[in-house]
Amino acid sequence: MRAFETSAQQMGCEVERQYPMNRYTSLRVGGAAELVVTPNSLGELCGLLDLLSGSDIPWVVLGAGSNTVVYDGGINGVVISTTRLRNIEIRDDDTVHAETGAILGTILNKTIKAGLTGFEFAAGIPGTVGGGIFMNAGANGGEIKDCLSRVWVWLDGREIELKREELRFDYRKSYLPPGSVITRAEFGLKPGDSAVIEKNVKEYLEKRSRTQPIKMSNTGSIFKNPPDIAAGRLIEELGLKGYGIGGARFSELHANFIVNAGGATASDVLSLIETAKKEAREKRGINLETEVRIIGKK
Ligand SMILES: Cc1cc2nc3c(=O)[nH]c(=O)nc-3n(C[C@H](O)[C@H](O)[C@H](O)COP(=O)(O)OP(=O)(O)OC[C@H]3O[C@@H](n4cnc5c(N)ncnc54)[C@H](O)[C@@H]3O)c2cc1C
Repeated sequence: MRAFETSAQQMGCEVERQYPMNRYTSLRVGGAAELVVTPNSLGELCGLLDLLSGSDIPWVVLGAGSNTVVYDGGINGVVISTTRLRNIEIRDDDTVHAETGAILGTILNKTIKAGLTGFEFAAGIPGTVGGGIFMNAGANGGEIKDCLSRVWVWLDGREIELKREELRFDYRKSYLPPGSVITRAEFGLKPGDSAVIEKNVKEYLEKRSRTQPIKMSNTGSIFKNPPDIAAGRLIEELGLKGYGIGGARFSELHANFIVNAGGATASDVLSLIETAKKEAREKRGINLETEVRIIGKK
């Protein structure tokens, strides 16, 4: 680990030891990561991945941490943070080229200014390009896959291009080749009227602020919607809306959100998740699947 840390620093990356992941993730829970390394360029990102792939150090890549819960035991090994890889370029052919750490909302704002439509799905989603593609993030009647045309990933020591079809997108799911890391992406948009796009986006955001607990720390939807009922409705029907354990509770505003009401631990969050899963299974015969990614050691 020491040799890797030194190499990362020599490359110019920021390196932080024992970094508390409750500062990184949007739900504000979780123990420390052994090392968080933040590259400043795609070259540095690929350089880090080359080093790690030839070692036995465990590693994970994170974007904004808005769909990730880290266990209280923290993370053994390295977290690579893409948060500085934020370049966004709008080209004359109405495509947007964005690095993996670009924030979806920032891309949306640029496309509105440029009079391009197709990225409105992203209004209110606080993640990055990499996290968004990995999750096939979606809202407002669309998903990232709808406007994605090409993706570049680091795989086995080189950057390769993948077509959208190769990622076989599904509901909040993509199939990246194992061991690959998204480096950048191209989105194909269409000319539109900035004023109309802006009006629609404003409505999406207003609806979100009425129906979701956006002022409290949260991590978006906790569960995927099962086939015949929205997860939020199910949790409400199970009597769990507003139910809390420790500092975490199912939001009063939207029961499929867990909020950190102050001092929550990952263990509180995980206990809530287990409670809802058990009740859904026993009382309704429904297997709830988490949308949020849970990583680290218990
Ligand atoms: C207030 C709020 C509202 C939200 N609303 C929505 C919504 O409406 N719709 C929706 O779909 N989601 C929503 N989310 C969830 C979240 O914002 C999305 O899933 C987002 O796409 C996650 O991006 P991220 O960068 O934060 O991912 P992270 O949490 O950092 O990572 C998520 C997963 O992606 C992987 N990953 C990240 N970067 C890469 C990369 N470069 N290469 C390979 N894998 C990578 C990580 O390893 C991890 O498994 C919401 C979250 C919050 C907090």
